[in-house]
Amino acid sequence: MTIQERRSVSQAPPPVETKPIDLFQKCWSFTRADEIKAMGYYPYFRVIEENEGPVVRIEGHKVIMAGSNNYHGLTADPRVKEAAKRAVEKYGTGCSGSRYLTGTLDLHNLLEERIAAFLGKGSCLLFSTGYQTAQGVIATLVQKGEYVVSDRDNHACIVAGNLQAKGAFAEFVRYKHNDTADLERVVSRLRLEVPKLIVSDGVFSTSGTIVDLPGIVAVAKKYNARILIDDAHATGVIGKGGRGTASHFNLDAEVDMTMGTFSKTFSSLGGFVVADAPVINYVKHHSPALIFSASPTPAAVAAALASLEIMEQEPQRITQLIANADKMRKGFKAMGFSVLESQTAIVPVIIGEDLKTFVFWRELYDAGVFVNAFISPGVPPGMAMLRTSYMATHEDHHLNKILEVFGTIGKKLGIIS
Ligand code: PMP
Repeated sequence: MTIQERRSVSQAPPPVETKPIDLFQKCWSFTRADEIKAMGYYPYFRVIEENEGPVVRIEGHKVIMAGSNNYHGLTADPRVKEAAKRAVEKYGTGCSGSRYLTGTLDLHNLLEERIAAFLGKGSCLLFSTGYQTAQGVIATLVQKGEYVVSDRDNHACIVAGNLQAKGAFAEFVRYKHNDTADLERVVSRLRLEVPKLIVSDGVFSTSGTIVDLPGIVAVAKKYNARILIDDAHATGVIGKGGRGTASHFNLDAEVDMTMGTFSKTFSSLGGFVVADAPVINYVKHHSPALIFSASPTPAAVAAALASLEIMEQEPQRITQLIANADKMRKGFKAMGFSVLESQTAIVPVIIGEDLKTFVFWRELYDAGVFVNAFISPGVPPGMAMLRTSYMATHEDHHLNKILEVFGTIGKKLGIIS
């Protein structure tokens, strides 16, 4: 060692003492859920013991369900149940393989054909959940150096798709919620020659508001971007015969891809995407979420198929669903509650503070009404809400009881006068 080297070693800062940190440290220090449980206000993971649709039994207690996405109330429909049973008899309980290898049944192909025909697109591809669909489509189509442009309030599965795409070195950028001017500002700064995908919920899952699709289409046309709309809360709710957001705006041909889920209107489990046949063919042969995950179970596919058929034969379910949600929007507003405006099945009642929202939730539950409590960071601070959602099978007496109970508790807690 030279003198200079010896000097630089002696002048180097002493090594920082480091301690190994346990990966699980964050779990030991996570106490928020237990604190809320100890106060008796914990609204999550409640155990449902019986489910008849509008009324369910939770922990021995019958409640009116005003928090489910069972929009057409078909989970308890005898025709849907029977279709699922027949599929189990014929095909067994699971497919034990991915669509790619041993998991494609004639039933999967039939449902894909029916959904493509229903939405008027060239082709459809099923995934095992809606969440997987967003990930599977976005991360597959948007590749290194290309852009995903996403609404800030998009559902978590779109964010996950974005993150995965980012992992594969795609770029993702976000614009202000449902703000087309901001979308244009963001897109106009991106490199013109690089391919882009604009992604948005059709009906936003928290607020129930409908996206400004004409605005998105105009920006997409100007900058040659493709569009993916997540219609999880739109299919069976808005558009002609329940055909969703593009149909609602008469922009069916302008939306390149629509995805959806079978876990809401279709009373089952699974997801789908529709697009032109070459796009679906590409996703089918490149999407890890499809290729490396087992295909939807026979019972799930048969239940979705039966629900689609019922929706086509009984469009009055859609009218009834919207009439029910409208009645509730009007009823809450008339009592003085702050309600987010929309034309969908989701009716959020803004309470404000997180703790007050939990207290309200608990009082509703004890009085026989189940809704969803959304607090920060899921919603902006001060905007904690009771998100209510409706079914075509709610009857007036269910809805009147919900309004009555909300009114009594709202007054007691000083939210309305
Ligand atoms: N997209 C949106 C907008 C959703 O709200 C949801 C579920 N809440 C999903 C996708 C995921 O659907 P799935 O339940 O089929 O995974």
